[in-house]
Amino acid sequence: MLNIKTIDRALAKYIDQTRQSDPSCAESLAIYGALLKEAAAIAAENTTPVVQWSEDELKAVLEDEDKTLMQGGQIVIDPAHFEASLRRMAKVFLASVETDDEARKLCEEVDWSDYATASLADLAGTDPMQYMQAIVELSPDENVLDLFVLPVVGFTLRAFLDASATHASQRLEALVPDTVHEERRLACPVCGAPAAIAAVVETPRNGNIKKLYCTCCGGSWKFERIRCAVCGTEAVSDLEYVHDEADDKHRLHVCKNCDSAMPTVFAGDETGFCPDVENIYMSRLAGFWEEEKSRKEAEGEA
Ligand SMILES: [Zn+2]
Ligand SMILES: [Zn+2]
Repeated sequence: MLNIKTIDRALAKYIDQTRQSDPSCAESLAIYGALLKEAAAIAAENTTPVVQWSEDELKAVLEDEDKTLMQGGQIVIDPAHFEASLRRMAKVFLASVETDDEARKLCEEVDWSDYATASLADLAGTDPMQYMQAIVELSPDENVLDLFVLPVVGFTLRAFLDASATHASQRLEALVPDTVHEERRLACPVCGAPAAIAAVVETPRNGNIKKLYCTCCGGSWKFERIRCAVCGTEAVSDLEYVHDEADDKHRLHVCKNCDSAMPTVFAGDETGFCPDVENIYMSRLAGFWEEEKSRKEAEGEA
């Protein structure tokens, strides 16, 4: 759930921690944090009713990985409101980054109405992954696409999906007991995107459980503790946690089977936990993991 107070608190903590030790991380937190806060503001003003999927629809996505809630009942996105929100988000982005005049001009030339036609808004509310794919195909300049259009579109879309996705995730969570271990979903049950980040959180009665979080729509769902969140393998010998010695709360769940490294936060109490800010903060671990890998390879050769 996009909550300005939670976002602000998490941003302040990590920007403070990294300002000296890792300035590039502090900078990403400031830039993407500004977009995240704008998304929370747009979401708070959004008057579109929260989608109430039926219990049968909820149960169907728990049983069938190929189904998503949004495919069965779309989140209505008003094209004009979406376009205005894209412009708003673009402004915030350009105000928070330093760019040269040439790059700024390219960004300012982006015509947001291209990304918010009636049919694209319809697609965005039904299948966000396909919508993002359509955006990629629409954009002529690769740099402008990666560095500007995709973040602006992604954070804006999130603002429109967040309330319905959060509500549905709470209802889904209530349908899945902590202690029954049937196979859980890899892709987000609400929108179908892959999980961005995992967390191990405390439950009142059943100890720690693992949850996955989707930063595309704001959905979250329970997952097996010992299972790769990317390829789904449960082979214990393929899975391990790696982390910086100084910080065992932020780890990578590394899978040998698919060569992935899922950022995983040992969050304790879920109250105040902000998956979106954690996701930005944990991008710093990608560099750490590259170093670890080359160290391990060197050890293997020695
Ligand atoms: Zn999702
Ligand atoms: Zn894997």
